[in-house]
Amino acid sequence: MPKTETFALPEATNFIEQIINEDIAAGKLRPEQVQTRFPPEPNGYLHIGHAKSMFVNFGTALKYGGKCNLFFDDTNPSKEKTEFVDAIKRDIHWLGYDWARECYASDFFDTIYEFALRLIREGKAFVCDLSPEEIKNTRGTLTEPGTESPYRNRSPEENLRLFEEMKEGKYKDGEKCLRAKIDMASPNVNLRDPVIYRILHATHHRTGDKWCIYPMYDYAHPICDYLQGVTHSLCTLEFEDHRPLYDWVGISLGFAPKPRQIEFARLNITNTVMSKRYLKKLVEEGFVHGWDDPRMPTLAGMANRGVPAAAVRDFCSRIGIAKANSECEYSYFEACIREYCNAHAARAMAVLDPIRVTLTDYEGEEETDFDVNPLDASAGRRKVVFGKHLYIDGGDFALDPPPKYFRLKKGGYVRLKNAYIIRCDDVVFDGEGNVKEVLCSYVPESHSGCDTSGIKVKGVIQWVNADRAVPAEVRQYESLLKDAAYAGQDFSERMNEESEKIVPAQAEPFLAAAEDGEAFQLLRTGYYKKCTQDGKLVLSEIVSLKDNFNKK
Ligand code: ATP
Ligand code: MG
Repeated sequence: MPKTETFALPEATNFIEQIINEDIAAGKLRPEQVQTRFPPEPNGYLHIGHAKSMFVNFGTALKYGGKCNLFFDDTNPSKEKTEFVDAIKRDIHWLGYDWARECYASDFFDTIYEFALRLIREGKAFVCDLSPEEIKNTRGTLTEPGTESPYRNRSPEENLRLFEEMKEGKYKDGEKCLRAKIDMASPNVNLRDPVIYRILHATHHRTGDKWCIYPMYDYAHPICDYLQGVTHSLCTLEFEDHRPLYDWVGISLGFAPKPRQIEFARLNITNTVMSKRYLKKLVEEGFVHGWDDPRMPTLAGMANRGVPAAAVRDFCSRIGIAKANSECEYSYFEACIREYCNAHAARAMAVLDPIRVTLTDYEGEEETDFDVNPLDASAGRRKVVFGKHLYIDGGDFALDPPPKYFRLKKGGYVRLKNAYIIRCDDVVFDGEGNVKEVLCSYVPESHSGCDTSGIKVKGVIQWVNADRAVPAEVRQYESLLKDAAYAGQDFSERMNEESEKIVPAQAEPFLAAAEDGEAFQLLRTGYYKKCTQDGKLVLSEIVSLKDNFNKK
């Protein structure tokens, strides 16, 4: 490409785009040649941290009109499963991304092997008989160099023969390995003759029993990037120290153009453990209902919880892409979900732990108007039927009210949302002393919008018409872990036993009639997803209305 050619470069909004812009300006590639890859290991479900990685990888490719592949890093056969491959693909689509090409490290096993032969022939790799333990013990430390392996100077011929025998299955796991011959005195421990192939007699989810030697991630990854045509290999900061090895592989094998590795900070969220090992443990030990449990920080969990994918993308975009690790407050993520739902969710009424209210002096029924979403005039209005028998939220009535209690109490007034002011005259108890019914009178001239009663009330509460209401189960969630004060403890001691709460409720028929999966704002409670389970209406919390992290 002639250097004089110029392109309209998109404005860089982070340091990765700056680097790419520099590469384009230097004539190394054209914008639409930008290629990235999202490289999950299929050993678990994707979590919110992966959403950031997807935002970076897919987002960058989209910005330049380039391509982003889905690359399954399946070099570790004992932990990988097809179930995870399928779940990962579903979750990427859920988040709203699509890949140019789907590929697997295992697609390239033959070439990766050929490249290893080349390194051996050129004296850049050797078969080592030290055990994994011995290799670890001779690696040296950050301040001391390592010790060279006694097998380091085997001839290429001997190495080729032994490597062939490794491949043929002549040796047991760990008996031999292939190591790159770099520099045992390198200040970077990763360059001290790293293992690039190991023996592992394990069945691979795609290649079956074809191989009993598997390439190590650090060796396979630059090769797979190159073979896919990746131009910018975007990864998280813990790989920064591995970049010299990434480059060594590319240079030793003469890759041109050589993919460029760029590291960015991982997403960390307070009180949220994201490592797949931990999430797997939660699933396997039954702390949660599954990978898609609504309390899980997995994308499947969020989808199941009703979190809008657009809110997750918005969150990723707002936290930005940085070079330094930091921790983001979980409440910030919730605020993004709340903001999205507030703008998009229809309003509805459902009351929890319902208390029956009878308006002793009201007869018949009447319709009252509700904004579907007061923030969105185009959503219009709908009718709600008011009547003599109502349910109110158990939390909106107090027998023994604290000072400044503005909701319903004996002798007190309160406004029913979009309807009348009522006064509590009497309370009926059941045989066990529980409130069975609250008897009220209403103020006829106090209807919302045409109130001439002159009565000032401070409290407005929601209600549902008891003759029309649909019984529902409300599910509310708190963090799986008790708060951050316990951060040092093992997660099994930090489990919040009350992270899932099931509360009986009564809901407007409007909610029962809605599509499953639709999100609603239950007035004064929060955002909920409507579902049906065994014919029963279930309202499942997406996010509370206010930030109330583990409120107890
Ligand atoms: P885990 O520690 O959860 O097992 P991982 O890094 O091993 O995560 P991979 O499947 O290898 O999981 O990750 C695929 C890609 O997603 C990698 O490029 C990885 O760096 C990136 N990634 C994983 N977790 C995060 C995170 N918290 N923030 C940003 N990117 C992440
Ligand atoms: Mg990984």
